[in-house]
Amino acid sequence: MFSSTLLSTFSLIALAASATPLDESWLQPRDSAVSSLFTKRYTPSPSDSNFTSNYPAAGATPPTDSLPQAWLDKLKSITLPDVSVATPNNGYPTYANGETPQDQKICSFTYECTTEDDLYNPPNGVFALSFDDGPTSASPSLYDFLAKNNASTAATHFMIGGNILYDPTGMQAAVTAGGHIAVHTWSHQYTTTLSNEGVLGELGWTMQIISDLNGGRIPKYWRPPYGDVDNRVRAIAKGVFGLETVVWNQDTGDWAIGSQAAYTHDSVVSAMNGWLAGDKSKGLLVLEHETRDETVSVFETIFSNIASNGWQLHNVADAFGMDWYVNSGESNTGAVTSMSVAANTLAVTNATSLQQSTTSSASSASASASISNSASSSASLTSAQSAQKSSASSAAATAAAAAQSSKASSASPLIIPGSLLAGISLLAAFFL
Ligand SMILES: [Zn+2]
Repeated sequence: MFSSTLLSTFSLIALAASATPLDESWLQPRDSAVSSLFTKRYTPSPSDSNFTSNYPAAGATPPTDSLPQAWLDKLKSITLPDVSVATPNNGYPTYANGETPQDQKICSFTYECTTEDDLYNPPNGVFALSFDDGPTSASPSLYDFLAKNNASTAATHFMIGGNILYDPTGMQAAVTAGGHIAVHTWSHQYTTTLSNEGVLGELGWTMQIISDLNGGRIPKYWRPPYGDVDNRVRAIAKGVFGLETVVWNQDTGDWAIGSQAAYTHDSVVSAMNGWLAGDKSKGLLVLEHETRDETVSVFETIFSNIASNGWQLHNVADAFGMDWYVNSGESNTGAVTSMSVAANTLAVTNATSLQQSTTSSASSASASASISNSASSSASLTSAQSAQKSSASSAAATAAAAAQSSKASSASPLIIPGSLLAGISLLAAFFL
């Protein structure tokens, strides 16, 4: 239970925030599905020697015991369909009790089931361009090619969080060129075989690193690795994070070049050209990759045929006439949706108050310890601008912003602030 002192502190901050919004404007709108999940924080720089320490290790599903509490709370608050976790089975995950994955109840895209919410059929005559698996060593040549052909902004890059972790400037090169950045999970697993919390980490951390490196813009689209998604995973992606699930209506098979005899550069080019010369009554959303030079080469070979066959080239967001990001409409330079947040000096003051007033539970005690460290580490900072640059003060600012922005907190202030504090504690422990 929180003291009335603490509650009144939150109330004061909410009042102050509504009266004096900060100029900075990259937090989420209050009615956003992710308003309390990805608040502004210290922005790691790729040049920092400890850059990778801000995130989970690459190449594995993020540990479920260090997920931000706000993500876990949001997961708990949504209703998931009764779909079991699938068992890995050589690329075709299987379900318990003989359930059939093609049924509408499960609707696995691995078994070619789609829902009306899935994005895969663009409008007539539209070619929605996307590349999976970046950034890689093959990405720079792709980005050069796109730039030379004035097509950088017409590409969506579904990126792997772990790849970004070790090549953050590679992702930023796509951003700088004007490309649209989307989520391809943290470690490229069959998502239907992961626990709910496993899915949470795969999506959430990839969103976090992308937003950290792109001005706080929160990704709005994700593509499941191998196309492996079912209604349980869809519900987590959309219900927790507001992510749109993007699959495809043609698979080039470029990923199989070099590993399966039936797929060669020429065979994949031939298939692509066949689609480009064909029916335009529905658009094309083709699975392509920036994984290797061979996959990029296929695209470069067929590129001119997209326009010469009369297709309009767009990235995924533009193809469907939707916003690029959850909190930003178009491009990587357009405005990010604004909202009021408490001044940083107030937030740091609040952190001190928290230390004095929250001692009654393990989570709140832990939160107060973390924030106490945060407050003391930023004690020498005198201006709000300086404080804003501090990871510590950002965590404290997060407390105030989240407390006053969360719709749930206004409905049940006794519960939500506690969960936010626990989340802050976890974030602080993880990031600092
Ligand atoms: Zn992939």
